[in-house]
This record gives sequence, structure tokens and C-alpha cells, in this order.
Amino acid sequence: MPAFDIIIIGAGPAGLLAAGEAARHGRVLLLEKMEKPARKLRITGKGRCNITNTGDWSAFEAHIFPVARLFRPAFMNFPNTALVRLLEEAGVPTVEERGRRVFPASSQAQDVAEALVRWTKRQGVTLRCHTEVTRLIIEGDNVAAIEALHNGRCETVAGGAFVVATGGLSYPATGSTGDGFRWAEDTGHALTPLRPSLVALTIAGPPALSEALTLRNVALTLLIDGRPVDDEFGEMTFSGDAVDGPIVLRLSGRAVDALRQGKKVSLLLNCKPALSEQQIVRRLERETDELARQPVAALMRRWLPAALVAPFMAQAGLLPVKTVARLTQSERLRISAVLRAWELPVSGYGGYERAIVTAGGVSMRDIDPKTMRSRKINNLFFAGETLDLNADTGGYNLQIAFSTGYIAGHAAGMRH
Ligand SMILES: Cc1cc2nc3c(=O)[nH]c(=O)nc-3n(C[C@H](O)[C@H](O)[C@H](O)COP(=O)(O)OP(=O)(O)OC[C@H]3O[C@@H](n4cnc5c(N)ncnc54)[C@H](O)[C@@H]3O)c2cc1C
Repeated sequence: MPAFDIIIIGAGPAGLLAAGEAARHGRVLLLEKMEKPARKLRITGKGRCNITNTGDWSAFEAHIFPVARLFRPAFMNFPNTALVRLLEEAGVPTVEERGRRVFPASSQAQDVAEALVRWTKRQGVTLRCHTEVTRLIIEGDNVAAIEALHNGRCETVAGGAFVVATGGLSYPATGSTGDGFRWAEDTGHALTPLRPSLVALTIAGPPALSEALTLRNVALTLLIDGRPVDDEFGEMTFSGDAVDGPIVLRLSGRAVDALRQGKKVSLLLNCKPALSEQQIVRRLERETDELARQPVAALMRRWLPAALVAPFMAQAGLLPVKTVARLTQSERLRISAVLRAWELPVSGYGGYERAIVTAGGVSMRDIDPKTMRSRKINNLFFAGETLDLNADTGGYNLQIAFSTGYIAGHAAGMRH
């Protein structure tokens, strides 16, 4: 008889939840290739871990891609409220912040990771780190065992049910190198094309800034083939030839998909979303009187951070030597237009090494969304970022990992 009933591969948020829940039904072995579990979880939310979001399903739904309803059964079985309760019982009180985002009260992602590891151990899970699973051994329509490298030695571990929770391809230094995608393909599962998401976008042309510059309270509109398809308000950062920050990340998924389809993509930056065109022009007229003898750059310095003034003037077709007194009304209108809609052509996007998540993955067509069980291999389950489910920033991606991990662990536990 095998020593373990359920084998969970990958000790990230999905694998930890799967292991802890499965352990209520059988003997669980949790295998992790890194030296310690949940490396990525420890750096989430800039080290603070945006655990989840307090919205109910109707609020969640709009933030889950590509087909939100395929995540619904997992969310309903293990919703955000259950997650918060589990964490609080595990010694991690939480707080809700702007945008209904939930963080540990300590603001320490490490605390979330450590509490979950302690919880799995209390549930009776055997966690083995430094153990890289290299292969699933298939017999008929079942996984019979896995092959793993432990401290350089190859070993075979048999089990009754197997959960693949190896994550995506992003931030590979944390251990997520897409191994589960390979096994899924090898065992006949369809894979939706993989691409980085929640990622910086590369801008063709100015402003290419040598030092990072963050703009707050600005609006960005995503244009695809010239048509506005989405917009966001908040904070963004210029850094070299890339733009980054919360509102860019939120638009990046659609931008990446459009670029991959060969479409023309650009961002319209509104530096002054609180002001109408008329209000800007009126204020410019007042400032024209005040600054009459100064160069136009001095006027623009009142509107923009210093580093953006020169590229802005080039974009608006204004000569740097021109004095404010000589500005024409049509030039004031042009300033207003560019302040409200500065077009930044997007030429590319960052790689997996800096992408927050991987979009694409094991097609949900080959997965039962109520259990996360494979429709191809009887005793095989997938959870977390290996699945073709991803989400906006705001705690939604971790909730996907936790909920799918939980129901995969439950179903694997019931099945073994
Ligand atoms: C910088 C950053 C910040 C983020 N911040 C947030 C946030 O605040 N809120 C949010 O909701 N989401 C956030 N995310 C996204 C979130 O971290 C992921 O969606 C989530 O970690 C996915 O969980 P997972 O368990 O599926 O995979 P992972 O967390 O990637 O875990 C997979 C685990 O499997 C292990 N593994 C892989 N292959 C093998 C193998 N062959 N054998 C054994 N073990 C293996 C890996 O080492 C890893 O420990 C962030 C992501 C990044 C990169």
C-alpha cells in the first residue's frame, strides 16, 4: 500500500489549501521543489499580500477571465469569507483597505505564508521541500505515481489521487516554471496559449525617462485599432521605455492579447481628468497673463512634473524657446487636448520575469469546474495558476488559487 493517499505537487497558495483540505480525508504528501514553500506568496502585494477582495460573487465576476462562470463553483464552495475565517483561525487577522482589498493586519505576506504552512502541518500534511517532481507516471486513465528528484536522488512516489498546483510561468525565480503545463499537455489536456499578464507595457517613442516617475490621479484609456475599449483611473509609473503601475497592469491583459493578434495598441493618458477642456483653457489664459515673459516650458512646469515637460512640448508641437505671451488660442487648445489625451503607442510588453500572472493554461474544457478534476485522467486534479483562469489586481488571483486549491483538495481527498 502506498505511504500516501493524496500527492499535492507545489506548495504555493493553491497547493497549501489543497493539502490542508485533503488531509481531512487521507494521508497527504505535499511536494515543493524550492527550499521553502510559498516563495511567491511571500512577495505578493509588495510584501503585504493582498489576500482577497471582500466583494460578493457579482462583484468578483467582472474581474475573472476568460470565463468567470467556470470559477463560480470553486468560489461558492470556498469564498473570500471562508478564506478570511481560515486565516484568522490560523492566527492572521486581516484588514480591509481601499477597493475592498484584504491584507493581513500585520502587513506581512510572510505571516500569511507561515500561517498556512503551520495550518497544513496541523492538519497532518507531510511537507517535503527540495523535491522537484519531474514526471507523472500514467497507467491507463490514471496517474499511478510521480517521479521526483529529492536532494539529487530520483524517487518514485505512488498515491491514489494527485493535485498539480505548480503555478504559472511568471517570476520563475520563485519556483513557478510552468512544469504543470508540460504534464497537462503530455497527458492530453488542451492548453490555452500562455502569455504574461498584469505586466508592464513598452512605449514606442517618448517619453523615455531615465528615472522612474509616478503619476497619481491620472486616467488611461486603452485604444485597440484606434477604438477605446477600456479605461482606468489611478496611479501609473514611467520607467525607461516602459509604463507600469496599477492602472497599466489592469489594462495590460487586453493590450497583450491585442498585440499578439497584430492589432494597433495605444494608451491615451489624461493628465488632468478632473478638468474639462474649457477649464484647462481658461486656466491657461490666466497663467498666460502671469507668466507672459517666461518660456512656455515654465508654464507647462505648473501642469506637469519637470521630466515630462520636454516630451510633452514635443508631443504638442510647441517650440521650447517660445514665450508664453506669444501662445495662440489654437496652441492653448492643443495643450489642453494633449494634457487630456496624450497618445502613447504601445510596442510590446514585459516578459514572464516581471509579469504578475500567466494568462492561459490548462483549458477549463478539460476540467470539471465543481471539483477541478481532469476530464482526461481519472485521479488527476489541477489548481491555481496552472488553470486557464486569471484576474485583475485586487486580491482576485490569490482567491482563484485558494478556492480552486481548496475544492481540488476536497475532491482529491474524497476520491483516493
Ligand atoms: C510580484 C507578485 C505580486 C503578486 N501580488 C498579488 C497580490 O497581492 N494579490 C493577488 O491576488 N495575487 C498576487 N499575485 C499573483 C499570485 O501570487 C499568484 O496568482 C498565485 O501565487 C498563484 O498561486 P499558485 O499556488 O497557483 O502558484 P504559485 O504561487 O506559483 O506556486 C506554485 C508552487 O509550485 C512549486 N513547483 C513548481 N513546479 C514544481 C515541481 N516540478 N515540483 C515541485 N514543486 C513545484 C513552486 O516552487 C511554487 O512554490 C502576485 C504575483 C507576483 C509575481
